[in-house]
Amino acid sequence: MYQPKIGVISLGCPKNTADTEVMLGLLNEAGFPVTFDEQEADICLINTCSFIGEARKESVRTLVELAEEGKELVIAGCLAQHYKDDLLKEIPEARALIGTGDIHKVVEVITAIAEDKKLRINAVSDKPTYITEDLLPRMSTNLGPFAYLKIAEGCNHTCSFCIIPQLRGKFRSRSIESLVEEAKVLVKNGAREIILVSQDTTYYGLDIYERQALPDLLEALHDIEDLQWIRIMYAYPTEVNEKLLETIAKLPKVVKYIDIPLQHSHPEVLSQMARPLNPERVVEKIRKHLPGVRIRTTFIVGFPGETDEHYEHLLEFIKTHRFDRLGVFTYSREMEVPSGHMDNQVKESVKKSRRAEIMKAQHEIAAELNAKLVGITIPVLVEEYDSERELYKGRTAWDAPQIDNQVYVQDPDQTVTVGDIVMVKIDNAEPYDLYGNVANEPLIVRKHNRQVTAV
Ligand code: SF4
Repeated sequence: MYQPKIGVISLGCPKNTADTEVMLGLLNEAGFPVTFDEQEADICLINTCSFIGEARKESVRTLVELAEEGKELVIAGCLAQHYKDDLLKEIPEARALIGTGDIHKVVEVITAIAEDKKLRINAVSDKPTYITEDLLPRMSTNLGPFAYLKIAEGCNHTCSFCIIPQLRGKFRSRSIESLVEEAKVLVKNGAREIILVSQDTTYYGLDIYERQALPDLLEALHDIEDLQWIRIMYAYPTEVNEKLLETIAKLPKVVKYIDIPLQHSHPEVLSQMARPLNPERVVEKIRKHLPGVRIRTTFIVGFPGETDEHYEHLLEFIKTHRFDRLGVFTYSREMEVPSGHMDNQVKESVKKSRRAEIMKAQHEIAAELNAKLVGITIPVLVEEYDSERELYKGRTAWDAPQIDNQVYVQDPDQTVTVGDIVMVKIDNAEPYDLYGNVANEPLIVRKHNRQVTAV
């Protein structure tokens, strides 16, 4: 049987990355050669994002560029789900579409189009409902010693700006047993850190266990011997309860870091967004239960009806609460969701200047917070070697990959291997990066050493 070489591009968020890795694992298991260099590929599989206008543009740009290079395309993910009736018509090079709830069909789809050169397949379910308990194979797309574990799919909230529930369906959890089994394989394959992702991680379990079961999942994952760090991304404000915080506090492998998108601070904007009010309460609760915790959050500026007064409220909120990590997006108008039809849409120029002002304020906050780390010694997970600068790059437990601080590490005695967690003395700090030397202290965890104690 002809097995074309499959080139892979994964766009969008870490949830997409996890899906891409499953599709790659399935293709690899079925014997398809896989490449990350699309020039070598016969067919390109692109797992797309369609969350906001910018993400859609990037997805479309990627598809057009590949099509212009003469590649045959299999389009998966949110863009395929969003435009399931149009993409095959509009992109002649597209051989197949795979929906967000159809990733398990990837081998069947690619086998069929490889066997019949004229065939074009639309494998997008109207409503995504798929979730599996099976241990599906994964092929890593990153070189770092971490892996995303997608604990659920879909979302049951109705934030008025968000298209995700339309594209990903209702919330559906995977069982604790199946997640632990998958995490064990990821750790066996080299992951030192497991990052829990879903659209709404703190909702986990409510559908299948009728309770918020994230604490139980954390306990079960914590028992995996060679796993060192467990990180929680995408918490929802009203679902961060005391039991969860107490569990995070008591389990040493669960990093003291919470990613909790708050989106805005002003009650009028939050009500229009259909988001929980009083975000300061959850921030205070998290800090009370987890002293020293690092909080990452995101905000949207320029939501319809956001006045100068609403915006000033947000800026003041950010200055008061001094978030350790912060992202800010300009509102993206989407006509398929309620906010697209709201009055008083804000001008792009106003959105951009509000975003710039918040980023400036955050830059100062980040610089001050990082400066406090100079002189202290902290554990760093070493992720790669930068041969040009002759420095290792890594992260502290307070930083998630790709979005937070990096630590540049000098190792004059050459004791370090990628995948180690080492003690690093910080001797210089920039707003978003740290610099240090491997400290004259024992390594915390050697990559292949099962004996050494956890951080
Ligand atoms: S909780 Fe997140 S994914 Fe769900 S609707 Fe709101 S913004 Fe979208």
